[in-house]
Amino acid sequence: MQISVNFQAIAYLVSAVLFVLALKGLTHPASARRGNYLGMAGMAIAIGATLFGSEVQSYGFILAGVVGGAVIGTILAMRIKMTDMPQLVAALHSFVGMAAVLVAIGTFLNKREADLLNGVLMGELSAGIIIGAITFSGSVIAFGKLQGIISGKPVRFMGQHAVNAAIAIAAVALGVHFALTESMTSLVLMTLLAFILGFTLIIPIGGADMPVIVSMLNSYSGWAAAATGFTLQNHLLIIVGALVGFSGAILSYIMCRAMNRSIWNVIFGGFGSESGDAPSAVGEAVEKGVKSAAIEDAVYWMEDANKVIIVPGYGMAVAQAQHAMKELMEQLEARDVPVKFAIHPVAGRMPGHMNVLLAEADIPYDNVLEMDEINPEFSTADVVLVVGANDVVNPAAKDDTSSPIYGMPILEAGKAKNVFVVKRSMRPGYSGVENLLYYQDNCSLIFGDAKDVAEGMVTTLKGGGH
Ligand code: NDP
Repeated sequence: MQISVNFQAIAYLVSAVLFVLALKGLTHPASARRGNYLGMAGMAIAIGATLFGSEVQSYGFILAGVVGGAVIGTILAMRIKMTDMPQLVAALHSFVGMAAVLVAIGTFLNKREADLLNGVLMGELSAGIIIGAITFSGSVIAFGKLQGIISGKPVRFMGQHAVNAAIAIAAVALGVHFALTESMTSLVLMTLLAFILGFTLIIPIGGADMPVIVSMLNSYSGWAAAATGFTLQNHLLIIVGALVGFSGAILSYIMCRAMNRSIWNVIFGGFGSESGDAPSAVGEAVEKGVKSAAIEDAVYWMEDANKVIIVPGYGMAVAQAQHAMKELMEQLEARDVPVKFAIHPVAGRMPGHMNVLLAEADIPYDNVLEMDEINPEFSTADVVLVVGANDVVNPAAKDDTSSPIYGMPILEAGKAKNVFVVKRSMRPGYSGVENLLYYQDNCSLIFGDAKDVAEGMVTTLKGGGH
């Protein structure tokens, strides 16, 4: 059964509107679920309209691809840990990039045989192949770095920028030559150079900047999809590609702003460090003049506090402590102690990381406040409990002009009467920068896994307090 071109165009239009509404829904945790459903509905309509369109040549191939992809995708999605999400996203972008390359080459070979090539189409094919190949190899490297298969350290060599510029110029020149002459040699060389460029662009970037790069590659994958849309004359693919291209670029910009980094610095800088070996916890803390506290000490202050603000960070995600945090909140609220959660835009390892975890634990959105809303409240709070967060509360970002994180906006946890920080050791956070908060008089560290400590607090409260 085939549907008319007009009907397909209308179905694509409906899908495009649903995708825009999906993006709108994803801007707030409360509407994110609805956004996802709208996106799924849009995709179902798009797939249906494509399947029943006149372009389909073999349902067998499509079925094999859909079933194979769905099985692999479902297994991956079920197995992946929340903290490993950035590398999964990087892996998925690599598929989009490779698909763009293969579709463009396939279209070229088909249309050449049918003598249907023209200058505009050839230009689109060149662009699709170059962007797709860069997206593919760049995403593979990003995946390798995030997964720990390749070292997360920036790899730099002499004249790196000049080499990258030379490869980019050569690839574009070959693309133009290919578009004008249909030369197979130019096609192969252009594709190879674009693959190499993806590799050389991403390899100098440090682990700390990798999530921003994944977001940039997300943007590239959108442009690759849009280029494929032009090649296939598929309007929906052009619209969706542009949506992904722009939203990825905007997200990268927002992430850079929250980390006080310039986007050019991230793309070309090779900033980022890996944390060193783990020093012993309490021993080193004492040596450094940092106070350590017991669970009971924190409970003592919290159960009578006028207000408790919890600052979750990457460590909460690692420990999967969000459900224990919810119980802690309930125990305190039962004692008439208001509890708020303070969210830094780059807490964790991906945008919205903390919001997703807190939503998963059913913590009401009203208790969750963004940085600008909560910052004025720290100075009036009796207790701030920092759970596996580090860089996002480091006063060095405000006070130490020589610090690599100087200028990054922080949650001003240190202004509270009492600050308790839950972490396992004296290891620094992702930026590798020592946290000056720990040396403040009002701050104590509770060493331990975030989930164990939060559960210990709940048990102590249930047992009648400290
Ligand atoms: P950090 O990486 O600064 O600190 C995490 C802390 O959690 C560490 O101090 C670690 O200490 C502790 N921790 C780890 N595991 C556990 C555990 N099981 N139990 C208790 N504590 C634990 O995280 P933040 O969330 O404060 O900051 C995020 C960092 O990531 C920022 O530097 C940000 O720029 C960067 N980043 C974030 C992105 C995003 O989109 N969110 C993107 C790119 C970068 P210890 O090992 O001693 O336990």
